[in-house]
Amino acid sequence: MKVNKNFDNLVPNYLFADVARKTNEFAAAHPEKEIIRLGIGDVTLPLAPIVVEAMKKGCEDLKYKDTFKGYPEYEGYDFVREAIAGYYKSFGVQVAADEIFVSDGAKSDCGNLPDIFAQDNTVLVTDPVYPVYVDANIMAGRRIIYAASNKENHFLAMPDERVKADIIYLCSPNNPTGAAYSAEQLQAWVEYALKNDAVILYDAAYEAFIADDSPRSIFAVDGARECAIELCSLSKTAGFTGTRCGYTVIPKELRRGGHSLHALWYRRQATKFNGVSWPVQCAAAAVFSHEGLQQIQDNLNYYRRNAQVISSALDALGIYYTGGKNAPYIWMECPDGMGSWQFFDYLLQNAAVVGTPGEGFGENGKGYFRLTSFGSYEKTTEAVERIQSLLR
Ligand code: PLP
Repeated sequence: MKVNKNFDNLVPNYLFADVARKTNEFAAAHPEKEIIRLGIGDVTLPLAPIVVEAMKKGCEDLKYKDTFKGYPEYEGYDFVREAIAGYYKSFGVQVAADEIFVSDGAKSDCGNLPDIFAQDNTVLVTDPVYPVYVDANIMAGRRIIYAASNKENHFLAMPDERVKADIIYLCSPNNPTGAAYSAEQLQAWVEYALKNDAVILYDAAYEAFIADDSPRSIFAVDGARECAIELCSLSKTAGFTGTRCGYTVIPKELRRGGHSLHALWYRRQATKFNGVSWPVQCAAAAVFSHEGLQQIQDNLNYYRRNAQVISSALDALGIYYTGGKNAPYIWMECPDGMGSWQFFDYLLQNAAVVGTPGEGFGENGKGYFRLTSFGSYEKTTEAVERIQSLLR
């Protein structure tokens, strides 16, 4: 028996462990100080009432022989897929219900989708990066190349004609930078993918935060149906981080090497995935109902207001940042040329505020810092006041 040696190539990531350790040490040394966490990557507000009611009703169904449900369909129940297709339609994107696969979340799909691609494909990710794209492909033994997102391109890396990539992960609005691609920029990526016979895995986990005319889906762009797969999640859209539900869209016309990628993914899911539970799918469908879409806006607006508080303070301080407008993340340049960890320590020691050092997300995160809007309004305001008086 041999273990998968590719695991030896994973770079250990102690980012959140180190953040927790340093924060705990500070708390133990300064019990009188109230620490405020602006590094939270999880939602904090509860599910919308209509979603909980739908989930309760789903549980009730399981109590009776006539309404009991066993294994769900691998790709999700039709009424959920219809509801998701209707959601796409509400922002002007045509996606057929039978192109949608309901899943237990975008993280699994980001990591599992490469199962349908050969090992010798080159994977391109933008740097800084959501680490799952990198680690999942290292485990599978694929070569990774990086496209730099930096201040020059406003943390929106663009394709380079001289580089050959086969699988491209794009995340917009981006975690960790909060930056969102415009339609023209996505068009350039689609053209690159079509020219190179590549496939884009487009992570739209934060699309619900988009507040300007940035595309909510890559399928808003011409040609994307021939080169892109889209992943999305109810985690940040509707607070499903603990409930678990997401979806992936694979257009029927997307083919490579004589194969339908939709058919390959169906085969993969049918082999390794047994679907999402009935109560959770009932809850997911409720998110996309008329009332559900209205109710989830309350939480999204709450987080948006926090993001606005943080962005306004950085504007007043004249600090460069991306995000905050179309995303729950604010990606700020560390002041006075400080390194990410140096600024982390400075903020913790002098303001008792915790954020996430950008270098944990890649080379181009050095000198940057991620703040999030998932905390309470009161704590966010308090933290921002502390930051302002420290950096003024
Ligand atoms: N994609 C991105 C870019 C994320 O930031 C996250 C979660 O933080 C996910 C996917 C995971 O989503 P899910 O909770 O649906 O697995």
